[in-house]
Amino acid sequence: MEKKRVLNKRKRIALVAHDNKKKELIDWAVYNKVALSKHELLATGTTGKLLEEALDRSIKKLLSGPLGGDQQIGALIAEGNVDTLIFFWDPMEAQPHDPDIKALLRLAVTWNIPFACDRASADFILTSPLMYEEYTCSIPDYSSYLKRDVK
Ligand code: PGA
Repeated sequence: MEKKRVLNKRKRIALVAHDNKKKELIDWAVYNKVALSKHELLATGTTGKLLEEALDRSIKKLLSGPLGGDQQIGALIAEGNVDTLIFFWDPMEAQPHDPDIKALLRLAVTWNIPFACDRASADFILTSPLMYEEYTCSIPDYSSYLKRDVK
């Protein structure tokens, strides 16, 4: 049977930006302050600190990305505790935590959550009516994987 997950009206949005993308994410968040006020926000450590200052609201801050924050967000996605991911990653610079970034993007797809990796996609997500109503999301069926023969 297909599994479903209900995303509430008030979404839990995780935000992450690499250093060269932080200014862009902060600009985007300030521009969208009213829309974002309808949702819960969480972020990796440094991104969260900057967002708190810019938006003048408290944001749940995880560890800094390279110290495990990306992995914490990935775990929250896997546990069904993040509804949307806004991740402005830097396509022009290798990061010390590249494997964590790949893992985070993989988990977003594994659990079928909406996610944006650039400003235009973030605009499309945040202006979607689905962001402001309850949305039933299908969870891919991993039952045959879980029941696989590993003898
Ligand atoms: P930071 O982490 O917000 O703590 O800088 C972002 C990242 O994953 O690089």
